[in-house]
Amino acid sequence: MSDQKSLQEEIVEVCLRRGIIFPTAEIYGGVAGFYEFGPVGQTLRLQLINLWRQHFIQSEENIVEIFGSTILPEKVFEASGHIEGFSDPLTQCDKCKSMYRADHLLENHDTETINFDVLTLQMLDTRINELKIRCPSCGGNLLPTKKFNLMFETTIGPSSDKKGYLRPETAQNIFINFKRIANFLRDKLPFGVAQIGKAYRNEISPRNFLVRMREFEQMEIEMFVNPDEINEHPSWDEISDLEINILTRENQLKKQKFKRMTVQKALDDNIIPNQYFGYYLALESEFIEMLGVETSQFWFRHLLEDETAHYSKANFDLEVQFPFGVVECVGNAYRTDYDLKKHQEYSKANLFVVTPEGKKIVPHVIEPSFGVTRLIYIILLNAYQNKSRDWTWFKFPNVLAPYEVLVAPLMKKDGLKEEAYNFFWELKDEGIDVIYDESGKIGKRYARADEVGVLYCITIDYQSLEDETVTIRDRDTTIQYRIPTDATAQVVKELVLGLISFEDLQQEFEEINAGDTKGVEKRKVETNKTQQNTKKGRSKKKQNKKSS
Ligand code: AMP
Repeated sequence: MSDQKSLQEEIVEVCLRRGIIFPTAEIYGGVAGFYEFGPVGQTLRLQLINLWRQHFIQSEENIVEIFGSTILPEKVFEASGHIEGFSDPLTQCDKCKSMYRADHLLENHDTETINFDVLTLQMLDTRINELKIRCPSCGGNLLPTKKFNLMFETTIGPSSDKKGYLRPETAQNIFINFKRIANFLRDKLPFGVAQIGKAYRNEISPRNFLVRMREFEQMEIEMFVNPDEINEHPSWDEISDLEINILTRENQLKKQKFKRMTVQKALDDNIIPNQYFGYYLALESEFIEMLGVETSQFWFRHLLEDETAHYSKANFDLEVQFPFGVVECVGNAYRTDYDLKKHQEYSKANLFVVTPEGKKIVPHVIEPSFGVTRLIYIILLNAYQNKSRDWTWFKFPNVLAPYEVLVAPLMKKDGLKEEAYNFFWELKDEGIDVIYDESGKIGKRYARADEVGVLYCITIDYQSLEDETVTIRDRDTTIQYRIPTDATAQVVKELVLGLISFEDLQQEFEEINAGDTKGVEKRKVETNKTQQNTKKGRSKKKQNKKSS
């Protein structure tokens, strides 16, 4: 445990030093449960979001996105049930007044209970008393457990009589805008509505860095489907043979591991409720692997009956094995027509669609709900390398790397710096994520690039001035080859997309690497000259600006 603990501490420290994650209001001592993305973290976050949008929205026919308000009036949460039920069990020490989440406190002492989430307040108090648990800070007596609502409350306007809440999930905006969106899409089911945005929960005990925060980001989809067609997903055949890991209810009760099975088998055996639900589990499984998470490191856990809300027909959490424990990174729920019906009841708005046959339908909803920060955390943990080199570095998957290329002059003198700086702009204009670094020894600069996971380092050296070639260094192997300057942009694009491997460069540019620069001509012809010429205009302006 101490090793695992120190890995978390190490990552936190690396995140601070390398501009990845910062504690909020750090100069004022910080505030528990709040973190911000620094320059590198923000590019990583955007890469993750882009990948998610590509995988779940852009490659689908019928999913739209909205961007809603984060403060919503009280009525919304009366209807959604959050005012009544969105709470965690809180206990307090009657001596030092420290507050604790009762189920978390119990987790550290109780080896018998399988699922702490389902214990009632009374059951929690009984177990706390049975196990003689005292206040971890001062050893004082713990008071009876109470419900603590996790929503941040605020007032809207100066008269302070109108209550509002910071939304605890992004989903509610989608339900309350349902009528407008359905009209916009001409009532044509099925359709999905996605939203990426902030959510707020006043967690009793924020913990594990980015795992349990008070302000965090979600990526959610509400897929609205005609219940009669819930087993007619148009792309089912494309994914039905895909294998996923499922931790069934039976496995959990027998304390067994997950089972691997095709989505089709999970449906045939009534483990998952319908095709639309299975479709999302398959897509999520593919997506999590793209983030660099091993197949054996995550599974879908079927929530037990007493963990499942009365209106839900199935909940499967995508759980990931972190070094310090298991973390839910995505929640999947088959919410039926519950939310729309509740909002219909409270708002008196008509939240149905009319089918071409004239039938009024309140659609059923499948909801996959992703937490951005938890995914960022597992990406960081999995990519982190602290053994192979004298410096620690991040082996991010290509699709997530915050920067694709570093351009560096070997030295600052003899025109190398100017050549490298111009080349940096050329690559930038080609749409490559590139950074420039001219300070310090070249080895130090390679190490600094590795430290934030830059995929390739391109160095302009004396030979570059003579024969128009550069060296390209691979982050994962540190191997370097020479390639033609003019071909670099295209080579990088192909490498990043995985169309060629780094080893392929050795063969393709064999003559150059053997010292014969005639090979320099090789890819020149393949590059799109017209595009290059138009783009150069912009780089020239910027180059001039910098040098003046
Ligand atoms: P839930 O509505 O609780 O199922 O949450 C959906 C997703 O939001 C979870 O799978 C997490 O990835 C994320 N999430 C929930 N609570 C937090 C939190 N306090 N901090 C960070 N992420 C969270």
